[in-house]
Amino acid sequence: MKNEETSIHAFDLNLICEYFLNVPRQGPGDDLQTEKALSFMGNNILQSKSAKIADIGCGTGTPTMVLAKNTQGEITGVDLFAPFINKLNQKAKNLGFENRVKGIVKSMDDLPFEKESLDLILCEGAIYNIGFKKGIKYFGEFLKSKGYMAISESSWLTHVRPLEIENWWQKSYSEIATISEKIAIIEQTGFKLIAAFTLPDLCWTNNYYLPQQKAKLDFLKKYPENETAKMLVKNQRYEAEMFKKYHQYYGYVFYIIQKA
Ligand code: SAH
Repeated sequence: MKNEETSIHAFDLNLICEYFLNVPRQGPGDDLQTEKALSFMGNNILQSKSAKIADIGCGTGTPTMVLAKNTQGEITGVDLFAPFINKLNQKAKNLGFENRVKGIVKSMDDLPFEKESLDLILCEGAIYNIGFKKGIKYFGEFLKSKGYMAISESSWLTHVRPLEIENWWQKSYSEIATISEKIAIIEQTGFKLIAAFTLPDLCWTNNYYLPQQKAKLDFLKKYPENETAKMLVKNQRYEAEMFKKYHQYYGYVFYIIQKA
């Protein structure tokens, strides 16, 4: 959910929500990559019925359901937007997870958990909303000792980049940095790096941009004269073009980290 020239918060949030409600993922990702991230964690957490788990910036809950299928504990999904949370709760019900998976509307900078109460935090494509360093520090306060966080974050894959993509990212999310810079932040924040891996391109293409092609057409048909709708579609198109042109220079990287 990034854009070319205007902050996303300047747009009509309801319209943005409606657009992203109609696609399976609100950020790049893939079920197998979520499972891979979880595979680095201990079975004492994954298999425990008493484990307390959070998915922060969960959107409509596609990664949350992968989390539910691969763990036994109690999962809370947190997102700022009620329509996303309603969809997540409906999915949990459809899959028979309603007794242990619950979505709540809350901001990630005001989490409703007790300090040191969580065993595992998942945050896919969402920590940029609070910032990587601030987010790790703040989310980490809610983790138990030896608890895990799996965070996917946009990262530079090369040391040198063409100016066009460098400038676009600086405007969109200036905290983007190389993998080694991100790992340094993790270490400075007092966490241990367990694993880091780059998400394959299909997480962006097949899973994120492709479903948006139809969503864009439907959206423009429904709101042909709406400036917000036109701007959103234009920005999403531009973002997809940037990825097509420059995908060898940046991507999402999953960082699996553990509290000391
Ligand atoms: N994890 C999901 C969604 C990623 S998109 C997925 O991978 O599909 C980023 C999500 O962060 C969106 O759902 C957006 O609504 C949410 N978000 C944005 N600002 C937020 C905030 N301050 N607190 C909680 N969620 C927020």
